[in-house]
Amino acid sequence: MEWGVINKENFKNKTTYDVPIKRWDPLSTVIIRSKDFGLRKKVRYYGHYAYISPIRGERPKGFKSSEDEKQFYDCSKKIFGKYKDVFSSVAEGKVVHDDWGMPLGNGFTIIIAEDEKKRDNPFSESPHRIKKVPLSSKALTLINRYPSMARIVDPEIEKYIKQNLPSHLKLSRGINLVSISRDFYPSLCFKLIPEEVLSGLFLSMKAAILYCIEESINNDYYDIPVMPFFNIGTRVGGSQPRIHSQVYIDLNMDGHGSRLEGHLEAFKEMNNKCHLCQTTHGGTDRIILETEFWTFYTTGSPVRNYHIRFHPSEHIRRFSQLKVNQIEDLAKSLKMIFQALDDIKIDKNRNILFNSCPYGYDADFHMFADIIPHEIIGGAEMADDMRVARKLPHIAAEEIRNSLKKYLD
Ligand SMILES: [Zn+2]
Repeated sequence: MEWGVINKENFKNKTTYDVPIKRWDPLSTVIIRSKDFGLRKKVRYYGHYAYISPIRGERPKGFKSSEDEKQFYDCSKKIFGKYKDVFSSVAEGKVVHDDWGMPLGNGFTIIIAEDEKKRDNPFSESPHRIKKVPLSSKALTLINRYPSMARIVDPEIEKYIKQNLPSHLKLSRGINLVSISRDFYPSLCFKLIPEEVLSGLFLSMKAAILYCIEESINNDYYDIPVMPFFNIGTRVGGSQPRIHSQVYIDLNMDGHGSRLEGHLEAFKEMNNKCHLCQTTHGGTDRIILETEFWTFYTTGSPVRNYHIRFHPSEHIRRFSQLKVNQIEDLAKSLKMIFQALDDIKIDKNRNILFNSCPYGYDADFHMFADIIPHEIIGGAEMADDMRVARKLPHIAAEEIRNSLKKYLD
């Protein structure tokens, strides 16, 4: 059931447990009583939930071995422009072979945005080869072939699944996107990724999100949480060596997770006095970089050592509201900060998470994002929404600021 499509052909010989499932944990889930968020057409929850998707295990390994992976940590070699991976076959519009003559995937895809141009409808069913993407293009946004949500479900099969799945489980609906650079750039070497490629990637993500939301609304979906993120490196879930980002668009219309609930309630309590619009982030000693459009700082309550948070100066609610000049400045700033982190030997496996207000929610929200370097966490930290950090945030900020100096004009 690749591409999030469940139809009569691929459901043959399958059971109701072979489909993507969403499950709310009954021990941490409550009904949303507040009248603030969303259209409230039906019962919605917040709490902890899990997506369980057998197809996720099928995705191809981008790194052939740990030796192969190791070379991607060394950004001094510029071998990468010629590197071929499974996405090369997509961008070139034909099957590309590796140096040993093995085919890299079949080149089939569903493409939502080529740079910012709309391509296939987000609810289109048929993967196909695309025309060779022009070399002038920067980035593509595709439907994830191995999603954790189903995008299109045959109505009869949906009925069958609903009747046969236990009532506490539901078929998970949504769109999973993956954005890639047109040419190969290794995700672990931000300094090798040209600024315009990184901003091209953000612009393509944005265009694809807007297209998906537009089509979702046309298909009667509403109240839609959207989660854009980067998994950089295998230790934080990045299975492909090429720079790529993902977006989870949840179309279950059944609420949102506890963390987002926390953010929504916190912004609500600020009562139009937005914390991010007013704060000095503890004086200035935790600020790493302030540009015309963005502020980067180490958070006072880190979830990992060197946890960096950033937000646009403008009070906007969503990633998809970012304008070109904000995106270009973000690409430039992120590249510098990643280099500065590399220079002081912070783990290169990092996540970037964008926190946005769901579509359809009439909530006050100031979008922000987190850069979280990989670290092993302990038991107490899994028992609650809590972390033990050893590095004082203002010291971490000082180290990063010092390292960043040489990259500032
Ligand atoms: Zn604000």
